[in-house]
Amino acid sequence: MRKPERGRIIRLKRHMAESGIESLLVTERENVRYLTGFRGSAGIVLVASGRPCLITDFRYMIQARRETTGVAILIQKTDWTAALREVLVRSNVRSLWYDESSLPIDTYDKLKKAGLKLKKGGGLVAKLRRQKDVAELARIRKAIRRAEQSFLELRRYIKPDAVEQELGLRLECLMREKGSRRTAFDTIVASGKNGAMPHASVSTRRIKAGDLVTFDFGAEADGYFSDITRTVCVGKPSAKQRTIHGLVLKAQQAAIKAMYPGVPCKIVDDAARSVIQESGHGKHFGHATGHGVGLLVHEAPALSSHSNMTIEKGMVITVEPGVYIPGWGGVRIEDMVVVTDKGAKVLTTLPREL
Ligand code: ZN
Ligand code: ZN
Repeated sequence: MRKPERGRIIRLKRHMAESGIESLLVTERENVRYLTGFRGSAGIVLVASGRPCLITDFRYMIQARRETTGVAILIQKTDWTAALREVLVRSNVRSLWYDESSLPIDTYDKLKKAGLKLKKGGGLVAKLRRQKDVAELARIRKAIRRAEQSFLELRRYIKPDAVEQELGLRLECLMREKGSRRTAFDTIVASGKNGAMPHASVSTRRIKAGDLVTFDFGAEADGYFSDITRTVCVGKPSAKQRTIHGLVLKAQQAAIKAMYPGVPCKIVDDAARSVIQESGHGKHFGHATGHGVGLLVHEAPALSSHSNMTIEKGMVITVEPGVYIPGWGGVRIEDMVVVTDKGAKVLTTLPREL
């Protein structure tokens, strides 16, 4: 098995032993990839004693061998639950711990009917994925570089009369040209009043002089993503535009400064939120302050007021407060940080000024 995946399997088995879990069924696609390197769209992994077993179908026979090492590969004849049953009977396993957030109910029923004792796994792999290892960080940094370089190249096209949709397409093309197999999500280009909608996507609106334009975009690198937002002013910013932008930046910096291992996520959220609330714009900031990024663009932890998680070393998190004023527009600034013993280290490098 390749080094990063081998280390992850070892860590997982340690956690399994601590929790008394003998055999873990891994069904979420990103978890399968994380543990084995397999990128296919259909496959599950059984982690028990010995080598992990990847069950997939004929379409991925060659790919599974190419992308994994040290993993037993089983090509299912009918559906994977039948193949899994064979493996379990062979290895005399009767109890199976499963991932309650990704096992479909009909599959659960099928396994139950087959006489297996099913127990909740408690999201062990998701827990491991929260703290990024060296290989993951390198990929995330690559995804950030691809997005940032693309945005720098896009800047000369951001001018009056440019159409949101065309700018979005150009930005996505630039990221793809730099090696992104896909974009992290549908790029957001929200100009003028459209900026008041946090997830506005793109429209056919033409940008006017004096508009604020919010770009929210992300690239991909080897399965990992980046997620960055910049709000720029086309022309000279007004006093109000400068004030709101300065406020959002201040809130963002407050959250970044508050982020240390062991600090509750809701405290970090509050650090940003209270800055905006004190200025009287509390009702204009209605989403979470940030989220984890990795094999998924949105993963744990959530920097929100109702999160029960704490910040851990190695987490990669976005910090993205915003102020959205109906009828006027909005400002959001989003950067990515990695948590170290000494606090949050900002990974993104694009200038933040208007
Ligand atoms: Zn974003
Ligand atoms: Zn985000």
